[in-house]
Order: sequence, then structure tokens, then C-alpha cells
Amino acid sequence: MTISDILNQLGEDREQYFNAIAPPIIQSSNFAFPTVADFRKAIVQENVSHVYTRGNNPTVEILRKKLAALEKTDDALIVSSGATAMAISIMSVVKSGDHIICVKDPYSWTKALCSNYLPRFGVMTTFVDGRDISNIETARQGNTTLLVLESPNTFTFELQDLRACAAWAKGYGITTIIDNSHCSPIFQNPAEYGIDMVVHTITKYINGHSDVVAGVICGRQDLIDRIFFAEYMTLGTVISPHDAALILRGLRTLQLRMERVQQTAMVMLDYFKKHPLIERVLYPMDQEFPQYTLARRQMRGSGGLMTVFLKAKDIQEIETFVDNLQRFQIAVSWGGHESLVLPVAALYGLEGRTDPALPWNCVRFYFGLEEAVDLIDDVEQGFEKMQKTA
Ligand SMILES: *Cc1c(COP(=O)(O)O)cnc(C)c1O
Repeated sequence: MTISDILNQLGEDREQYFNAIAPPIIQSSNFAFPTVADFRKAIVQENVSHVYTRGNNPTVEILRKKLAALEKTDDALIVSSGATAMAISIMSVVKSGDHIICVKDPYSWTKALCSNYLPRFGVMTTFVDGRDISNIETARQGNTTLLVLESPNTFTFELQDLRACAAWAKGYGITTIIDNSHCSPIFQNPAEYGIDMVVHTITKYINGHSDVVAGVICGRQDLIDRIFFAEYMTLGTVISPHDAALILRGLRTLQLRMERVQQTAMVMLDYFKKHPLIERVLYPMDQEFPQYTLARRQMRGSGGLMTVFLKAKDIQEIETFVDNLQRFQIAVSWGGHESLVLPVAALYGLEGRTDPALPWNCVRFYFGLEEAVDLIDDVEQGFEKMQKTA
């Protein structure tokens, strides 16, 4: 089945709802049964029948089917955020006394879960530089049950060799989970390399319009069923059918949007690399990116995130540059239609916080759906203002 078939057709049964093109929003918490026998049948397979919306809601179910297919996995569960998706997939694997290996610098709340929260339940984590699999092997203990990957991450884009990691983990019976948000299912499918569970924040590319917070866990049937009847039903972190409908609408253009932001990023890469005020650019699909060969091998594209280091003499200069940008909004997150800028300098000198590990001249851009020429014009005038006040 092609991506286009998945986005336009899969999971939709239009004859059931008046041949409506847009799936209905089944805004119902509860579902009734004509007979006791039907009720009995539904209740023992609550993960696929329609009993109660904390379990399986028909509108949300369409989304489950499409996202599972996009990631080439058996099934998927939609949850209330990307952070939840990481948390419950991780919690589904470990028990008290277990050890996790996680790549260093994962998404901040994945790090918080592993370093601050799970130790309360006797689960400890070692963070390693996953660019070299020998670091993963060195960190392994007799009680290691889980390897948590994020490839690339969303600031400095370090990769792990997914095929090698999956093979290594299988050799020891260790489960693998990856946060695949950076690539979206369009640019990377880790299950193809043997990774057990593939997690996304839906909030970013998949929904793509900056109006919903949600997450998804994709994986083999046995793993997804186990989560459904444990973490998913007990913690109850579901999304509303309304949000599912918004996500389905956003999903229709996922491939188009990914291709567009990728094209824009390549234009911006060329522009930044030639610019005298840019010290260095980080982008996995740049031939000079340290892990370019691996990126080409396991990713079909990189998308709209790019990090640059400016030749600025102080934080004030960075601030002048960023404050003067008109088309880039200062914000966290990414993956929507709108271009964004996140200067690391904004995180320096905050009360009660240690300064970031990244240097203050580091600026992360997200290129949305605007024209590349307009984005270049904007950056150009920002640089001019920065130099005028220098
Ligand atoms: C934003 C993000 C998350 C968390 O997603 P939410 O939907 O905001 O909870 C997880 N991983 C990565 C890589 C992200 O960028």
C-alpha cells in the first residue's frame, strides 16, 4: 500500500456513515449493544471493539490504523501527548530493579522521566553517546531490559545506527524504543530495521497545524496489546474524538508538507553555508554533517529543523538578530505551518537553572511552509540590524 493510499483511504469505511468524505466525530463516551451475547463478545476484546472511549473510539481508531500503517507496524495507540507516549511505552517494559540504557540528550521530558521519576520505582538509567554502539555495549548490565533511542534528536541531530542497535538488543533480549518524531513516518521507519516500538509526538509534524497535543506508540501486536490492557487503560491518557478529527485532517497533507519543508531546508542550508556570519550549520542531510553517510542510509529526508552557530560577539547581538526577525516566531516546538526560531541564548542566566550545554551563539530554526526566498530575505534583514547595532 502506498503512502497516498494510507493517507487518503486506509481505515475509512464510508458506507458506514452516509458515504461522507470526512469521517464523523463520534463524540460519545459510551457504546451500547443489542444483546448480551454481543456485549460479552465486545468486552473481551476491548482493544478492537467499541465499548468505551477510554479504550477504542471509532474516530480515533481510523488514526490508529493510518499511523500503524505509515510506520509499517501491526498496531498503534494514540495518547494525549508525545511525552505520554514515551512514558507509557517505557513503563510497559520495565519493572523494579531493571536498568535502562538511553541516548544522552533525548527529549527533555524523556530525560526527566528516566533520571528523576523512574528511580522512585527502582529503575535506573545510564545515558550514553549513542553515535558509537560500543558505548551502548559498555553500559549494559545484567539487568538491562530496555534501550531508548532518539535518532536524530531535535537540536544537534545525533544519530544511532538503528539496524545495529536492534540487532545488538535482540542478542540480549533487550527491548528497543525509538522517539522517531524528528523524521516523521515519512522519512524514517525504524520498525524496518528491527526496532520494537516507534513513538512520535503527533503535536509536531503529524498534526502539523499547531493546534493539537497528542502522541502515538506504534509496534508489534503483542507489545501494543500489552500496553492497551495495562498502561493505556489504567492511566487513561486518551485524546478526544474532536482532536482525532483534527489530526486526521492534518495527516492528509503529511507527505506534501514533509517534502516542502525538506526542499526549503535544502535552500536554507545552501544559503547559510555560504554566509559570512555563520560559523557552522548542523543538518543531517548536509554532506559535511559528521553522520551524513548513516543519515543517508537510514533516513529518506530530514525535514525543517536546522541549527546554526552565529559569528556574534555577545548574547546581545543574537538577541538583536532574533528580535528583528519578522517571519520567524520565537517559540519552542516545530512541525507546524509556521517558521520558528529558538535561540539557545534565551536559556542563559535563568534563575534557578544551570546554563545549557550548548553555546549561546547556537540558534535553532524550524522552516515551515513559507517561501524560502521570503525566509532568506527575513534572515538577511535580521543580520543587517544585528551588524548595525554592533
Ligand atoms: C515535542 C517532542 C516530544 C513531546 O511531545 P508532546 O506532544 O509535546 O508531549 C517528544 N519528543 C520529541 C523529539 C519532541 O520534539
